[in-house]
Amino acid sequence: MSRRLEGKAALVTGAGSGIGRAAAVLFAKEGARVIVSDVNVAGSEETVTAIQKQGGEARFIRCDVSKPAEVEALIRGAVEAFGRLDCAVNNAGISGSMAPTGDYPEDMWDRIMATNLKGVWLCMKQEIQQMLKQGGGSIVNTASAAGLVGVQMAPAYVAAKHGVVGLTKTAALEYAKANIRINAVCPGVIRTPMITVATDHNPEIEAAVIASEPVGRMGTPEEAAEALVWLCSGAASFITGVALPVDGGLVAQ
Ligand code: NAD
Repeated sequence: MSRRLEGKAALVTGAGSGIGRAAAVLFAKEGARVIVSDVNVAGSEETVTAIQKQGGEARFIRCDVSKPAEVEALIRGAVEAFGRLDCAVNNAGISGSMAPTGDYPEDMWDRIMATNLKGVWLCMKQEIQQMLKQGGGSIVNTASAAGLVGVQMAPAYVAAKHGVVGLTKTAALEYAKANIRINAVCPGVIRTPMITVATDHNPEIEAAVIASEPVGRMGTPEEAAEALVWLCSGAASFITGVALPVDGGLVAQ
């Protein structure tokens, strides 16, 4: 079977866990060389090992996406490693604490915005500059179903993810003629450490979360990764500026 991303150079942020790890592993399976990036060193090493075990090529570059100098060094390092950057998945994110808008703690608001929104823009800024130099590329941002609809008790997360969707559409228009496609994936509830920490292994909370999903189950990181990799691949060559729900029907309700 032909591999969809043979010879491509890919970057995944937040690749030390969950959806990012599944995406990094799938990129490698499809033939890409992968830069695994995260603040979580041990988790990233596990991702690199998983890729190497299946015969793929991966390197870890530590980066906090909310720090401009670290993001600059990440993209420089990625290009030094593989000579170019064809596919970039801006996926690093945090969920933050839950509280209504009128009570939301300002420090938590700032942390969520710094990682989930500014972090995506900082990465896009550097990735776009590299892709312009080399004549094209494809960027996919991990937004959320919470980038398309409101979610009570999560004002900062929802505002940041709506911001990612708006940023994706704007940049897609700006670079459409430069052969750079820019899209977002909007996952519903995906079973990753982010969700297991939020539900705290409490069966009642977990049941309520599952009940929010029309399909009656959580998604898997691999199901989200399929959309990220497909949007990056040539199979999606006429698609730019979309925010694609991968959500078991969540936002169709
Ligand atoms: P996860 O917690 O398993 O993975 C997130 C990764 O991001 C972690 O490895 C973490 O170390 C990394 N990270 C956090 N802050 C960072 C920073 N400042 N710099 C670099 N790396 C950082 O969670 P996940 O569920 O795999 O989430 C991945 C993305 O998917 C996030 O953007 C999240 O908001 C989004 N998402 C998740 C769900 C879900 O249900 N799991 C739903 C919608 C959207």
